[in-house]
Amino acid sequence: MSPSRKRKASTSEPLVEPSRREPLRAHLLGWYDRQKRDLPWRRTRDPYAIWLSEVMLQQTQVATVIPYWERFLQRFPTVEALAAAPLPDVLAAWRGLGYYSRARNLHRAAQEVVARFGGKLPSTAAELLCLPGFGRYTAGAVASIAFGEPAPLVDGNVARVLSRLFEVEGPPGDRAREARLWALATGLVPGERPGDFNQALMEHGATVCRPDSPLCLLCPVREECLAYRHGRVDELPPAKVRAAPKRMTLAVAVWAHEGRLLLARRAEKGLFGGLWELPAAEVDGETPDTTSATRLAEALGTPVTVHGHLGTVRRQLTHRALSLRLLRVTGSARPSHAPAFRELRWCTPEEASSLGMSTAMHKALEAAVTAGALRE
Ligand code: SF4
Repeated sequence: MSPSRKRKASTSEPLVEPSRREPLRAHLLGWYDRQKRDLPWRRTRDPYAIWLSEVMLQQTQVATVIPYWERFLQRFPTVEALAAAPLPDVLAAWRGLGYYSRARNLHRAAQEVVARFGGKLPSTAAELLCLPGFGRYTAGAVASIAFGEPAPLVDGNVARVLSRLFEVEGPPGDRAREARLWALATGLVPGERPGDFNQALMEHGATVCRPDSPLCLLCPVREECLAYRHGRVDELPPAKVRAAPKRMTLAVAVWAHEGRLLLARRAEKGLFGGLWELPAAEVDGETPDTTSATRLAEALGTPVTVHGHLGTVRRQLTHRALSLRLLRVTGSARPSHAPAFRELRWCTPEEASSLGMSTAMHKALEAAVTAGALRE
C-alpha cells in the first residue's frame, strides 16, 4: 500500500457520489430483504419493544438477548408498566445481561416518557436524545426503525462496513474517523426505508462483513467496496488497542444470623449501582483481614469482626478483573441501615436469590452458602 493511496479522514470531501450511493443502497436493501435473520423485534412495530431490543443489543449478543427481551416484555409489556415498576424489579429482570446502567437508564427514560410525552416515545432522533440512556446510536436506531426517520446510526458493525466500503483510515476511537463514519452514514440513509437500510448495514456487518474472515465472495456490495478493490480488506479497520482490565478486589461481608444473611443495596451510581449484594467494600489485593474489617465497618456503620474466609469468587468483566473475597463476619449490633448503602435487609438465601443482584454477586452468594455461611 503506497502512502499516496491512503485517504485522509476528512469531513470536508464530498460524502458519497450518487453513482455509488444508489447502487449501494439498492444492493444492500435487496440483500437484506432476502437474507435478514428472523429476529423477534423485527416482527413488531411497537416502538417500546424496538427500543428495548436496541438497548439490550448494545453490549450483548443476539442469541443471548432474545430470551431476555421476551421475558422482559412479558413482565413489563408497556412503557407505563416499566415506568411504574420499582427499580430493583427492573434490575432483577436484567440480571445476567450486565452493564446495569442500561437498565437504570431505561427505567428513568420510561418514567420521563410517561411524565413528559404521555407514554408515547418521541418519534425523532433529536427528541429521543434528550432522554436518559439515548446516545446518538440509540436515537438513530429507534427513530429510523420505529418511526421511519432518515436518521443515521453507527455502531461497531456499521463502522467496520463503512471503513471497508469507503477506505476510512484510523483506528476505532479516532475522532476524525468517527466524524467521517457519521458523515457517511448521514449521507447514505436518506431514501427508501431508512430503518431497513440501517438494519441492513448492521446485519451485513454481523453476518457477511465480519471482523475476521469477511465473506467477500458472497457480498452484495463487493462492486462498491474500495477495500476489496484495493486488496485492503484485512487491514481495515485496524485493530483497537485494548487496555488491560483493571484488577479490583472486594472484601465481602458474609454476616449470618438465625438462618439469614445480611444483604445491602448499593447506591444508584457506579459499578453495580442499585443492585443488591452481600455488603462489599473495595480493598487492595493484599489487604490483611483487619483492614478489610475496618473498610466493611465504615461501609456498614458498625464495628465488625472477621472470623475466617469462605473462599474467593473471581469474575472477568469487560474492563475489570474482579476478586470477591468472602469473609465471615459478625458484629455486636446488627445493622438495619448503613451509610454506604441505600438499604439493608436480612434475607434467607432463597429471598436473596430473587433480589436484583449482579451475576458476580450471585455466584458469591452461592459460594458462601455452599461453604457453610449459615452454619453459625
Ligand atoms: Fe465487506 Fe468484503 Fe463486502 Fe467489502 S467486499 S463490504 S470487505 S464483505
